[in-house]
Amino acid sequence: MLSKYHKWREGEEVAKYSIGILQGDDIGLEVVPVAVKVLQEAVDRYPGVKIDWLDLPIGYPSYLECGETMPQRTLDALYDLDGWFLGPIGHMAYPRDDPKAMNPHPFLRREFDLVSNIRPTKSFSSLPCLHQSVDLVIIRENNEGFQPDRNMFRGTAEYMPTPDLAMSVRVITRRNSEFAARTAFELARQRNSLKKVTAIHKNTVFKLGCGLFIDTCQEVAKEYPDIEFETMVVDTFAMALVMRPQKYDVVVSTNMFGDILTDEAAGLVGGLGMAPGLCVGPRYVMAQATHGSAPDIAGRHIANPYAMIMSGQMMLSWLGNKKGDGEAIQAARDIELGVGKVLDELAAVTPDLGGKASTGEMGEAVCAAMRNLPPGAGSIY
Ligand code: ATP
Repeated sequence: MLSKYHKWREGEEVAKYSIGILQGDDIGLEVVPVAVKVLQEAVDRYPGVKIDWLDLPIGYPSYLECGETMPQRTLDALYDLDGWFLGPIGHMAYPRDDPKAMNPHPFLRREFDLVSNIRPTKSFSSLPCLHQSVDLVIIRENNEGFQPDRNMFRGTAEYMPTPDLAMSVRVITRRNSEFAARTAFELARQRNSLKKVTAIHKNTVFKLGCGLFIDTCQEVAKEYPDIEFETMVVDTFAMALVMRPQKYDVVVSTNMFGDILTDEAAGLVGGLGMAPGLCVGPRYVMAQATHGSAPDIAGRHIANPYAMIMSGQMMLSWLGNKKGDGEAIQAARDIELGVGKVLDELAAVTPDLGGKASTGEMGEAVCAAMRNLPPGAGSIY
């Protein structure tokens, strides 16, 4: 173990978190360091919390340095961490014919059993959003469904028996459906919102696959009588999400539907720069924004760091909750308040939000906003 967690008591012991920094590609090299800085600034406000950071190679910079996009030494180190940042991965630009140039992110989700991908969508009244008062979270099952690069034990779930015929296999298990559903109901309980879970399916067509998913969600729902539960067919929901997103609180879905719906939801509130994400499993947690590596804007320091900062905020909050660490939860809440202030004032935001600030300047503004908060201002108790 790189670090050990100690419950903080009266300044004598400190809650230590070991967190990896995997910057990824393209804008990852710009947004991840900013998110790390904001997290460090937030925990510095609380003497009972300490983060041990560990830089680890991944992606194309790693390929250039050591010939692999997913080096074994990175993998070995991750097993001992509490969690890590994974920056966006620009795998479409990797060499096609080299097995050492694999796309690391589906591999990591599978290897570390990161079953639930938690993706919030929140509107800010200061920003030009398609809808205001949106505050919903989509839980996407992360490791099966139609995704052929991770839904088989070995081999791929896509194949071509003849040059003119392609086949894709979709996998749904009770185990992962249950984990995703449980993540959704627990979140609905924690959130100060509508206390509702909406499960998305197409069991009118996928009678077995979506049938198993929905039956499992219904079983889990019985354990949460305080949470309203409804099911919706995916096409109906896709339309309803555009028309009345305010009606939804926590949404749970199989992998591919969730992938599409989370980008649609991001579009409602200002685009992919506004779409954070957290991959969680029974043991590990990985902060990974919804957006890709955005090669079109890489190197210009104009990428919006909101999604990566808030992915880190969710990771800190998740770890704090897991370890019963009120100070880490408060530090996470401070980040939310600092980010909210910067977005309300719009004085230091990136061009995608109509501003002129660089990625680093927006991050600095979040740190400055947090410095002005009285300690404990973010208390959720
Ligand atoms: P992937 O398939 O790897 O998820 P993608 O096809 O969704 O990637 P992105 O790389 O996310 O594509 O970029 C889509 C568009 O959104 C691009 O025009 C990009 O510039 C923009 N974009 C993505 N992330 C950000 C960000 N953090 N700040 C500003 N613009 C962004």
